[in-house]
Amino acid sequence: DHRPATDYLSGLNAEQRQAVETTEGPVLVLAGAGTGKTRVLTTRIAHLIATGLAWPSGILAVTFTNKAAREMKERVAHLVGPAGEGMPWLGTFHAIGTKILRRHAELVGLRSDFTILGVDDQLRLLKQVITAENIDEKRWPARQLASFIDGWKNRGLTPKDVPPGEAAAFANGRGTGLYQAYQDRLKTLNAVDFGDLLLECLRLWRENPDVLEQYQQRFRYMLVDEYQDTNVAQYLWLRLLAQARKNVCCVGDDDQSIYGWRGAEVDNILRFDHDFPGAVVIRLERNYRSTAHILSAASGLIAKNKDRLGKTLRTDDEPGERVSVTGAWDSEEEARQIGEEIEALHSRKENLSEVAVLVRISAQMREIEDRFVTLGLPYRVIGGPRFYERAEIRDALAYLRATAQPADDLAFERIVNTPKRGLGDAAVALLHAHARRARVPLMQAARYLVESDEMKPAPRRSLRSLMAQFDRWRTAMEKTPHHELAQTILEESGYTDMWAKEKSADAQGRLENLKELVRSMEEFPDLPAFLEHISLVMDANEDGDQERVSLMTLHAAKGLEFETVFLPGWEEGLFPSQRALDENGRAGLEEERRLAHVGLTRAKRRAHIYFASNRRIHGLWNATIPSRFIDELPEENVEVREAPAAYSGRTASRFEGMTPFASSYQTPGWQRAQARAAEAARDPDNDWRGGGGFSENGSGFAGPFQAGRRGPGGRG
Ligand code: ATP
Ligand code: MG
Repeated sequence: DHRPATDYLSGLNAEQRQAVETTEGPVLVLAGAGTGKTRVLTTRIAHLIATGLAWPSGILAVTFTNKAAREMKERVAHLVGPAGEGMPWLGTFHAIGTKILRRHAELVGLRSDFTILGVDDQLRLLKQVITAENIDEKRWPARQLASFIDGWKNRGLTPKDVPPGEAAAFANGRGTGLYQAYQDRLKTLNAVDFGDLLLECLRLWRENPDVLEQYQQRFRYMLVDEYQDTNVAQYLWLRLLAQARKNVCCVGDDDQSIYGWRGAEVDNILRFDHDFPGAVVIRLERNYRSTAHILSAASGLIAKNKDRLGKTLRTDDEPGERVSVTGAWDSEEEARQIGEEIEALHSRKENLSEVAVLVRISAQMREIEDRFVTLGLPYRVIGGPRFYERAEIRDALAYLRATAQPADDLAFERIVNTPKRGLGDAAVALLHAHARRARVPLMQAARYLVESDEMKPAPRRSLRSLMAQFDRWRTAMEKTPHHELAQTILEESGYTDMWAKEKSADAQGRLENLKELVRSMEEFPDLPAFLEHISLVMDANEDGDQERVSLMTLHAAKGLEFETVFLPGWEEGLFPSQRALDENGRAGLEEERRLAHVGLTRAKRRAHIYFASNRRIHGLWNATIPSRFIDELPEENVEVREAPAAYSGRTASRFEGMTPFASSYQTPGWQRAQARAAEAARDPDNDWRGGGGFSENGSGFAGPFQAGRRGPGGRG
């Protein structure tokens, strides 16, 4: 019998229970890490359904990541039984926005099968827009424009809403015009970018009050997790939707606001009371996750921030192990030590799924991954589009998109000459020229060109055979299982062969990725469903039930918990990130500190911090010193571990009581290293600030310090 358990409330404390049972009117749960905010939300959904206050379909729950949405779905299903009456609408802002937009696409000038552009395609399109306006793309790079546009969209600004002063910042005041041109191009392509998923929704509702009302009526109850990280557009979206019934319950923690760089506004928490007068504010103070040492370490650290609402946290848990701090000679040794420690845990029969390694930037992952591979430790990388953002995967997806969606110009252009088939720039220019003239998609232009003599015979033959292949594949779509078709496409197009022939070290990996892609398609009913999934789910790179260590950025770890957490790379310049300090001063530092706090509070029983004395930044070795965050941890909660080589010379004051932190911080050597790092960080191709890899919320923005992604929406 899977009927709702009647005792779902009994496991809650009094405040949690109040948060669950205050179903009518606005509720804000403002509470620290591990106090059961997410648990309150899940239980609340169960409660609404069990008491008959709402049908599942009348409930809307917003999570920050797709992974969190999946977990919440499972937990709700467990509490309310198999979804006889359907499930609540449960997903990220973007996923829910997509669902709504598909239903009403025509009202905002789209067709319901619109494409959602990834970062690559967005940049390619912006490049075209910039060039078409005769602006020098080298001087005014597409990345920078992308950053502005993302920032504006995060703030809910359409081209005409952009303050003139801000538009002036790009291409001598032509920013807004380019933004408009870009939006027009998107419409022509029947495409949206991630920002549009909310922005177009807002426009839809503002211009069609009847549609808005329909959703306001439908969703009797709304719930939002990780509320501290909503941006303005999300906030406006939520407010419009909740304005009618006002049964909205938001949970959040200002000390875990870590997406300011992407336009999140912690002020939304403060504004809540204003926009929803009479809101009941509930505070939870008991932490159920971590041992006392870990909790005190994290609380001591975050107490250094000035800009916070402040709260008490307590645990009834035992003291447990202290937070360990270990120095390593270099990042390779750091990876080796982490590997050893995990093997030791494993041999003590600890579950590897309860172990996580949380890094500041995704570039730190490679050495750790290499180590895991060497040791044969199973692991998974969580929270990146890393897999789907890889070039070979994007190429393969472009083939699939071009097959399924013949009007998808970006996809077609991406693969028309990959592998090389003699359709170089000249041929592509011809295709474009004709497409523009005849106002048709590139594929259709291609059909014309293979019959005309505008194109030289050799490329024409090549194009003809490519078009014949697409025809065949399209016909095959009807009767071939889509993953088999994908395999066929990759083989017949010569794409797999291209990598097979390449002798480089990573070609093998790419071939494996392609195999993995084809395999993953089996989980979907058809190609469109798969493509939809790809555009939204960037953190679904995990399979099987095998116990694995989880590897992810700190940003991606929000909301999660593990028995043991490893925190490598606590060094000045890396964490706190030099870039955050340079660009945002104290606010930047405080956001970094919140990130450290998020990292520590993921741990239930063990937290291990590492720093290396030498780290390679952009190919250059740099001497580094321990992060100031290490110094800020309350001494009584920390255990410093032996690491002989690491401490020679430069250390924080804590270590061996030798060099005072401030003076070591000012050594010329350190300053040089810092200057080098800062320089490296300004290089647009630099992996160093490749950031969280990304898209843990499926929003498709690049990682925290991806080149030029800090738009005007950033915390400033
Ligand atoms: P974060 O801020 O990190 O997202 P959170 O406030 O959402 O944390 P949860 O993830 O909901 O916290 O809960 C943390 C842990 O504490 C979970 O393992 C949860 O099951 C457990 N927990 C929460 N409330 C209780 C309770 N009343 N009794 C026992 N365990 C609880
Ligand atoms: Mg949570």
